[in-house]
Amino acid sequence: NHAPVITVDGPSGAGKGTLCMLLAEKLGWKLLDSGAIYRVLALAAIHHGVDLESEEALVPLAAHLDVQFKAEGELVKVILEGEDVSGELRKEETGMAASKVAALPRVREALLRRQRAFSETPGLVADGRDMGTVVFPGAEVKIFLDASAEERANRRMNQLQQKGLDVNFGSLLSEIQERDDRDRNRAVAPLRPAADALVLDSTEMSIEQVTAQALVYIEQKL
Ligand code: C5P
Repeated sequence: NHAPVITVDGPSGAGKGTLCMLLAEKLGWKLLDSGAIYRVLALAAIHHGVDLESEEALVPLAAHLDVQFKAEGELVKVILEGEDVSGELRKEETGMAASKVAALPRVREALLRRQRAFSETPGLVADGRDMGTVVFPGAEVKIFLDASAEERANRRMNQLQQKGLDVNFGSLLSEIQERDDRDRNRAVAPLRPAADALVLDSTEMSIEQVTAQALVYIEQKL
């Protein structure tokens, strides 16, 4: 009763979220946004006044995290301890806080089972940093989606501008680089492609091109 898994790892802003959504929709499979779990944990810590670097205080918080993901059409509402935190969740500062708690080995350990529980029939598309290397090492299909930091900052800036927010390219770029550094250089589950992953560089590709290439590869592997 093993359900197949497709893992999509890569740095923030490479387009993993969009790709995973399209793949899950196309295949009719479940979706795991593992970054959202780290983001929720960071928010829980902030709400409870827990130090983002205290592994000791964060482990029990991670183990008992009271979170629900509620699908509402295209969107997923995230409910933390009964409170809708969907808006707060996507902020840059939440991503930054998430990368701090995510660097702690016992925090990652405490969240493993919760992530693996998302695997069910007919299949799972898992979005993150260590999906193919640590959480689902036996996944049938592994993709690593990359893009240059400049291109990722550009895409992020366009998204924010579309929401009517005024943003500075330089500060977005340096935030992306800081988060990348932390994710790539941590001792446990650092961001890197699995040995058996297809690496796609989306810097000069549209989301349609990325999706088309991913689908060709998935058909070969499944
Ligand atoms: O993907 P997203 O930007 O939502 O992830 C937020 C942060 O959570 C990442 O910068 C990373 O530090 C952490 N994360 C992780 N492992 C995952 C997913 C996210 O360490 N599988």
